[in-house]
Amino acid sequence: MARTVRFLTYEFQIRAMRRAHSMTLQLKHDKAFVNHNWVAAESGRTFQVFSPSSEEVVSTVPDMDENDAAKAIQAAHKAFLTWGQTTGKERSVILRKWYELLVTNQEELVKLNSTESGKPLCEAQAEVSYGNSLIEWFSEEARRIHGQVISSPVKTKEIVLIRQPLGVVSLITPWNFPHAMITRKAGAALAAGCTCVIKPAEDTPLTALALAKLAAEAGVPPGVINVVTCDRPGAAAVGRQLCQHPLVAGISFTGSTAVGKLLYSNCAAGVKRIALELGGNAPFIVFSGADLDKAVDGAIACKFRNSGQTCISANRFLVQEDVFDEFVNKLEKKMKDLVLGDPLSTSSRIGPLINLSQTAKVIGMVNDAIEKGAEVRLGGKLATSLGQRFCEPTLLLKVDPSMLCYNQEIFGPVVVCVKFKTEEEALSIANSTKSGLAGYFYTNDINQAWRVAKALSTGMVGINEGLISTAEAAFGGIKESGFGREGCHHGIDEFSYVKYLCFGLSQL
Ligand code: NAP
Repeated sequence: MARTVRFLTYEFQIRAMRRAHSMTLQLKHDKAFVNHNWVAAESGRTFQVFSPSSEEVVSTVPDMDENDAAKAIQAAHKAFLTWGQTTGKERSVILRKWYELLVTNQEELVKLNSTESGKPLCEAQAEVSYGNSLIEWFSEEARRIHGQVISSPVKTKEIVLIRQPLGVVSLITPWNFPHAMITRKAGAALAAGCTCVIKPAEDTPLTALALAKLAAEAGVPPGVINVVTCDRPGAAAVGRQLCQHPLVAGISFTGSTAVGKLLYSNCAAGVKRIALELGGNAPFIVFSGADLDKAVDGAIACKFRNSGQTCISANRFLVQEDVFDEFVNKLEKKMKDLVLGDPLSTSSRIGPLINLSQTAKVIGMVNDAIEKGAEVRLGGKLATSLGQRFCEPTLLLKVDPSMLCYNQEIFGPVVVCVKFKTEEEALSIANSTKSGLAGYFYTNDINQAWRVAKALSTGMVGINEGLISTAEAAFGGIKESGFGREGCHHGIDEFSYVKYLCFGLSQL
């Protein structure tokens, strides 16, 4: 009987998913956006965009190539000749209008985001609010891009530093935050006076197109924002063009470390400016004496955001031996409350993974750990009755360094817990990776808080806090997690350069 009820629930959910996904998406577009025109690929080719939960086709968009990308770069270059000359205040007014339109269209953006990324509505809502806040933030920062007057060592010279926009910038973004990864870059780029060509991920181009449409409505002039869509096999050629075209001054990339390294080398030939926001492998350390309930809440928020497909998601939970069992029991209890299901249902907390290869990678890591002796406390398999991409929230214990999940970025709803004895041991495990994006720890000892915060080899640290993203703070990593900062006033630095003016004066 219980099995029948569960089966019917799944059937009902799948039918509800199909109904929800067939709803009209008013901001959905099926053309790319170049110089304020909705355009097809010159070749006429298209590719399909799928809903990860219903697996139905949501739209088709142009499959553009390097020649299409070159046209977008030329449009951006032409636009830069005037946009680059505008005042900070003029750019601020337009960015503010864009922000207001994003807020007006928030509900529609959330639906579109959830549909193409598979993110539960609550998560899509959080992303859209964060993404919008970045445009608001940079509309304010546009007026605060300052130079400096430097004290000269001689009376016959005056030294002035001014900040100037880079020029045309290429923005390449991933599928896991289709809205915020674009606004975090484009907001800063436009505020600085740059123009841009955006290449969104194959899985999530629709949000990028909707953002461009609203930017145009807000008064962003033709050519200042362009969106070039292409499928995965075409990404390398388009990416090369976006790095190497002589009219491109710089690139900003968010995505995997492997692709980041490739783009870094693509940029070397032209010595192009580059900012890289790459993969993470965040440690989440719980010291004895920490507030365990707070640590568990932080762990749930940090790990299960976007079904674990977040670059700053906790990847390795390191728990001091005397609180290990209590922490794990409390965490398991909270994990059981996470509802896996239709992203467009308000009760869902965990949605599908983005695509089949991502699903295979995550479940492959779980199976590898099980084969090597890990204990599965919770989950451990796909929820195939919901679809092909739903992975159960999984809690693995008795993991060791021989297992993939111990060393690699998991990017799924899988918690891996490791026991440690001393602070030194925790730090040694935490820092034993090539990644250095975010790290988290929980302690009630103020001395330990300061010591560990400084000792973690990461660009960002959450201390007794699992959610750290905000427009006001500088987001970015060290080591193989990349360089450059997004958000904050530092976000402007990536899209501007310092020019030194030396005024020679007559002897006073
Ligand atoms: P990805 O494979 O590196 O893709 C990112 C973007 O690069 C997509 O638009 C992709 O296009 C494009 N791309 C792929 N191959 C390319 C090439 N040869 N030349 C130019 N562009 C290319 O990464 P992902 O799987 O989408 O995203 C997950 C990764 O991003 C994770 O490692 C995560 O940690 C990282 N991430 C980092 C941050 C951060 O702020 N540090 C934020 C979010 C995600 P296609 O989609 O068409 O392949």
